[in-house]
Formats: sequence, C-alpha cells, structure tokens
Amino acid sequence: MNLIKSLSEETISQISAGEVVERPSHLIKELVENSLDAGAEEIEIDFDQGGRFVRVKDNGCGISHSEMPLALARHATSKIQKTEDIWKLNTYGFRGEALASIAGVSDLTLISGLKGKNSYKLRQVFGREESVDPIGELEGTTVIIRSLFENTPARFKFLKSEGAENSSIKTTLKALALSQKQISFRVLQKGRLVFYWPPQKSLSDRTAQVLGAKELYCVEETKGAYKIQAVVAPPHHTLKNKKSSWFFVSGRWIESRVIQAGLMSAYRGLLMHGEYPLAVISLTGPSDEIDVNVHPTKSQARFKNSSFIFKLVESPIHRLLEQAPWTKKIIQPTPAKKEENLNFLNPEFKKTNWPIKQQEYSAKALSQLAWQADPTPPLKERDGKLNPTDYKTSSDLEKISWSDLQILAQAHLTYIVCQSDRALVFIDQHASHERIIYERIFHSWKKGEVEVQSQLVPLVLDLEEGQAVALLELNEELKKLGVQLESLGPHSLAINSYPPILKEKALQEGLLFLAKQRLETGDSFSFEKVVSDLCATLACHSAIRAGKSLNLEQMQELLKQMDEFPLSSFCPHGRPVFVEYPISRLEKDFGRII
Ligand code: ADP
Ligand code: MG
Repeated sequence: MNLIKSLSEETISQISAGEVVERPSHLIKELVENSLDAGAEEIEIDFDQGGRFVRVKDNGCGISHSEMPLALARHATSKIQKTEDIWKLNTYGFRGEALASIAGVSDLTLISGLKGKNSYKLRQVFGREESVDPIGELEGTTVIIRSLFENTPARFKFLKSEGAENSSIKTTLKALALSQKQISFRVLQKGRLVFYWPPQKSLSDRTAQVLGAKELYCVEETKGAYKIQAVVAPPHHTLKNKKSSWFFVSGRWIESRVIQAGLMSAYRGLLMHGEYPLAVISLTGPSDEIDVNVHPTKSQARFKNSSFIFKLVESPIHRLLEQAPWTKKIIQPTPAKKEENLNFLNPEFKKTNWPIKQQEYSAKALSQLAWQADPTPPLKERDGKLNPTDYKTSSDLEKISWSDLQILAQAHLTYIVCQSDRALVFIDQHASHERIIYERIFHSWKKGEVEVQSQLVPLVLDLEEGQAVALLELNEELKKLGVQLESLGPHSLAINSYPPILKEKALQEGLLFLAKQRLETGDSFSFEKVVSDLCATLACHSAIRAGKSLNLEQMQELLKQMDEFPLSSFCPHGRPVFVEYPISRLEKDFGRII
C-alpha cells in the first residue's frame, strides 16, 4: 500500500465537483440559488451545449472587489457568520462550496461589483486564476461557465445526450421559478428566448404560467406551525410520470416519498394505474422539525413526523377534490351569455322527453343493488341531510346536483344521455354505479363500521420470510377493516375473520401486496391504497354492467345516488364517469356561431 498523503487541492476540488455539480442542471441550480440569496429580483439564464456553456446574470447585491477571490474559494461563504447560524438558515447556500467546485471543472468568469462602484471581472480556468480586470459600473453579478468538465473526461463521459441535459436544465429552471413566484426569470437557449416568466402574485398563477396548465384549483391550509399550499389539476388532466408533481419544502424543490404518497392518496380512486396528477405542493413548517439540508444537492427533506406530513398533504387536497370543482362548471346552471345560448334559454327545452326503453330492472332493484354492499342501513342517512332535493332549498348552492340534469335517453345500453342548459352529458352507467358502491364501502371502513364475519375455518395465507411480521405490525389498522390475523409461524398467517363484503381472492392478493410494499418501502402509507384497491375491485364486481337497459326511474335513482358522493365523477379505477359535449360546441359544429 502507498503512504498516506493529504489530497491535493486539485483532487479535492474535482471530487467535490462531482458531488455538487453532477450534471449541468445542478450547476445552474446552484448559480440561480446564489442569485436568489443575493436578493435578485430579475435573473437571466442563457445556456447551450447541454449546459457546458452557462451564463447567469442577476441584479442582486453584488460582490465587492476584495471579496471576489473568496467567492471562488472553498468553504468560503457570506451566509454563515457563526456556528449557530447553520440551525436557522434562510438562504439556499451555506456550504461555500458551489462556486469553488464549479471553478475547478470549468473556465469560469465572475463579473460583479457593489452598487455605485466599479465592477470587476475575474477569470479562473480549471481552478487557476487567470486575470482580474476592472470593467466599469455594472449592476449585480454575472457568472459565465465555459468548457464544463473538459479537464475531467471521466465526468464528461457521464453526461447524457445534449437533448437530455437541456431538458433537465429546463425542468430545474421551472422548479426554481415555481419556488419563487415573485422573481422575474428570463431563460435563453443559445441566445434565443425560450421562457419569460415575469413575477406573479399567486402560486396558481405561477403554475399556470410555468407549466402552461389551464384548469387549476388551489387549496391552502395552516396546521399549527405548518402551512401547505397546493395547486392541482382536475383528475382528467393527468400525466404518465411522477415528474408532473412538484414539491417544495421551505422554498426548496425536493423529492419526497411522503408528500408523493399523501398526494396519491388524496387522488385515490381518481386516477388510472400509472397516471399521476399535475400538482404543485409547497409546504413550510418549523425549522427544527424539517431538515432540507440532508443532501449535498439539497434535493431531499427529512421530516420529524412523516405521518403528520402525509395527512397535511392528503387531507386538504382530498377535500378539494371531493368538491369536484370542475364538474360545477358543467352542471351548475350559470347564466349563459345571451348571444351564445339564446335558443336554450327557452324553458320549453326542458320539456323534451323521449320515451325510454323499458327493461327488466325496477328502480328498487337498482337501489338494492347499491345498498347490497353497505352494512349500514343507508336510508336513514338519505332521508337526512343528504337528500338531494335539499340542495335546492338550502343556501348551499355550491353543491352539485347530478339529479338536476334532465335525462334524455339511454344510449347503447351503457350511457345515460342527459342535458343541462349548457351541455349534453353522457354518463357511464357502470362507472358511476361502481363509484357509488366504492364510496359506500370505503366510508364504512373509515368510520370503523365494517361488518365482520368470523371464519369457522380460517383462511391461511402463505408468505415469504418477513412478510408475516410486516403484516402483523399492521394488525391494528387491519382490525379496523375487520381483518383479524393470527401468526401460524414465520411463513404463514391465519385470517380468522374478515368482512363478508370482501372477496377471498381479492383479500389475499391485497394482503400480499401490502406485505411486499411495507417490506420494500418500510412505510404504511400505502395501507389506504390497498383498502381502496380492495374496495374498488369489490365495487366493480357488484356494480350494474354495461349492456343492461335501464328505465327512466332507475336512471334517476342512479343520478340521485351520485349526488350523495362528492367524488362521483370518476370511477374507482380513475376512468371518468361522464363526458360532456358543450352546447356551444354543438352550435359551432352546426355553424350557428363561429
Ligand atoms: P454558498 O452559496 O454556499 O455561500 P457559493 O460557493 O455558492 O457558496 O458562493 C460563495 C459566496 O459567493 C456566497 O456566500 C456569496 O457571498 C457569493 N456569491 C455567489 N454568487 C453570488 C451572486 N450571484 N451575488 C452575490 N454574491 C454571490
Ligand atoms: Mg451557493
């Protein structure tokens, strides 16, 4: 073995460059964060060659001539003056490492100066100082990076294609803009303006601006010292990957399994498998309960109480979704503009009533089908505050009333055709009924009112090492679902009782999934998801099928039941329950309006 030797400055700088600036997008993030820490209100970023060339210009406080070499020195920072400061940071930076690391692997020019004083231009090439020149009075700071990683071929090799790096840079810049709505960002690629995001007043305006989303809903909640703000798109606007969700903790863009789990749980039953909602979630809390500086690139957060964070995220978003604000637009009769909708203001149009094909089900049979899965007598509840007709008399006009829609016909023995005064609405009979049953079961589980049935011969579940223990740890939660487990050894469990509404196979599969999930991720956030999946499978089997003809009464009953459940516009597998065809579109298609 060789002798022990201290590493040279050059080696140290190349090692740490790998940690701080693994990719050009990380480097840009560090530079923009420095501009933000310097109090800049306007930041301009130009990049090219997948980020091997970068220029970041700001109108922040600037750096004095004498401090410029220090800005590029390792472990030199203006953000911590004494040790205690690291526990109450309110700046992005504090390690004093970024510029030094970047300077070690690039040709770097720093141009800066204080207001009213001469600015200076300092150039370092791969960590060696080349020149310092005065260049007159300029505002703020500009950092220019060229030839990134040219002296470290090993790192250079790890870069992805130019296109992939460019796209990672754009994503990072979007995140930075989302985290700082009051800052103006101008983004250029090869000198051509690609984004311009002037300051915005609200997070939802910023989200609309940066992500180009049109229909967004916002919710805010304060819980003790915590505050959460979420901007979400309706469940029918989804994307196929997790990147559609953006999380910010104390203003920092982070990845978080807990927040992701809370968000997905809020959308439970509204998304199809593999779909992710478009969402921007920003939360703040006491600095001694949240650590956002765990990772050198600061992309993770550690929470003292992650179950609390899960709930903090889940409940307001779920409540927002329960109001299904997007359906209001369709169903709530809003005064139509005269010129747009003249023909349909005529009360006569309500009278239209086509004969509806009779069939074998009675309305009673249909409603019984819905109650079947519900162990609690539902009628009491229905006659109470949830009676849909109350919606009209109460002052709570915000409530959506499906039963206000006028039923026109059943199409293809599958779709209920209705109209409001603004749209034709098609409702999928199976999907809507499925949702109703699902909500019923799920709610009785939540309220702990699930009917349980002891098994004379217990079901036996064969498991792999560790899975049995993982499940037994969830015993209390499972009991709430009416599932009683007993250990039969390291590889098997007995299920002594379970709710008769759960099908045996679905239950076994669900428990196995839960055990695997818990072993893999070590958490039980997915528990609700498992219950939800069980309920969804069950609901699907009990709901009225497509291809059954329904009479008017049955269809009315179905709409009435939809009114009882706030989330009735999506089936539990996330398929939409209805689609809409606005009358205005019909008018356009027929050339009545242009
Ligand atoms: P850190 O941000 O952790 O302090 P950096 O290496 O990123 O470390 O920056 C070192 C120092 O250089 C900062 O503490 C700050 O004083 C100064 N600095 C860097 N960028 C800017 C800028 N855009 N405007 C003003 N000062 C800057
Ligand atoms: Mg910094």
